[in-house]
Amino acid sequence: GELATRLKQTAANVIKKLMGLGVMASVSEVIDFDTASLIADEFGAKVEKEVHVSIEERLFEQDEDPEESLQERPPVVVVMGHVDHGKTSILDAIRKSHVTAGEAGGITQHIGAYQVVADGKVITFLDTPGHEAFTSMRARGANLTDIAVLVVAADDGIMPQTVESINHAKAAGVSIIVAINKMDKPTANPDRVMEQLTQYELVPEQWGGDVICVPVSALTGAGIHDLLENINLVAEVKELKANPDRRAKGAVIEARLDKGQGPVATILVQKGTLHKGDCVIAGTAVGRVRTMKNDKGQFIEEAGPSTPVEITGLTEVPSAGDLFDAVADEKLARELADKRAAEEKERQFSSYQKVTLDNLFSQIAEGERKQLDIIVKADVQGSAEAVKQSLEKLSNDEVRVKVIHAGVGAINKSDVMLANAGNAIIIGFNVRPDPVAKEEAAQCEVEMRMYRVIYDAINDVTDAMKGMLAPKI
Ligand code: GDP
Repeated sequence: GELATRLKQTAANVIKKLMGLGVMASVSEVIDFDTASLIADEFGAKVEKEVHVSIEERLFEQDEDPEESLQERPPVVVVMGHVDHGKTSILDAIRKSHVTAGEAGGITQHIGAYQVVADGKVITFLDTPGHEAFTSMRARGANLTDIAVLVVAADDGIMPQTVESINHAKAAGVSIIVAINKMDKPTANPDRVMEQLTQYELVPEQWGGDVICVPVSALTGAGIHDLLENINLVAEVKELKANPDRRAKGAVIEARLDKGQGPVATILVQKGTLHKGDCVIAGTAVGRVRTMKNDKGQFIEEAGPSTPVEITGLTEVPSAGDLFDAVADEKLARELADKRAAEEKERQFSSYQKVTLDNLFSQIAEGERKQLDIIVKADVQGSAEAVKQSLEKLSNDEVRVKVIHAGVGAINKSDVMLANAGNAIIIGFNVRPDPVAKEEAAQCEVEMRMYRVIYDAINDVTDAMKGMLAPKI
């Protein structure tokens, strides 16, 4: 019937032709494309197949790069650790000791990342100490980092945020190198640090394990070069590669609104090469790269893999962690930005995507979940450990229960960010979330459950898991 209307024929005429082809069809029959095109041909009309291709498919280059296109790229390194253990000092010491000749004395700008050259090899550092930036990026699917330098003060040893950092790095699957800092202090005790590390499954090389520990002093500069050498070593083993000959792809590290220049964003190119004048989309921001600066504040024309650059020209300020893509079609990019903005709005109104004990069952039923990740916070170390063990014992063939972080103290923002990044839930024992954590959890819809009795928590998780179990045939 519909085909007849489009051909401006009567249905009877079309049916007759169909019968001629041996197809017995009624007016409401659905016929396939090939049949329809034969019939249309008979009436002197042309048909075209309508193909649905998503905007992303039309806009982005294929994500897989052929093996032969891959070339070595610098490692991307983040510095993590407990407050006051010397993260900022180490980043500064590295930057100061490894500026190349021509740059010495030049103004180094803070753009959120910088590069140094050690033994002829380039290393990229994310200049945002602490793991907040790191986790928010991961929550958006941008896994930027290859190596985490875990800073531990030799006179203080492993502290709560050291443990957090270890678990963040493990959850992200990045290699860990330990910098035992403040070795200049008379009270420095590196052996104690190494011994403590083994309690977190980080066995130092010195003791037959595979974790590189480098004693350093950010104050005197001792050991800093050794640290860089070891970063190069780990990078080499990891065989980090990217295709430089394609349109650039990467992520936003920092962004701000500048009065004179408009939106300014630091982006890290992960693959491909970004050129001045390229059209880019970052989250919901679109635009042409108007200016591009490197970490030394020099204007540059192009930037390859693992290079951080500060760009202007975007229509709005993107968020840290937003993925960016250089694209060929600006109009289509704007369409995609609109679509993303609409999706973002929709996401804010629905609550289905985050895991909770209540929705576990449906997530499993849809084949989306075979593992439940949990963060445990308790008032004392003993209960944190006990709860961790009891919960993990609930694992069975269908569902794995994994405690990705167990710690002591109030639930804080970092816990929530870790949960958000890894889609985990948080269980608290005789502790409460601090106000910032509470707000953050509400915003990113991370489930937090508070208990006074271990038994109650085990019961709740067990019940949820019964719902999770795949039906037996
Ligand atoms: P962050 O909070 O981890 O970024 O730590 P900072 O880099 O701000 O350092 C905290 C404090 O430790 C500062 O007062 C630094 O001067 C001091 N500090 C950092 N590294 C060293 C070191 O190698 N030796 C000594 N003696 N002090 C250090």
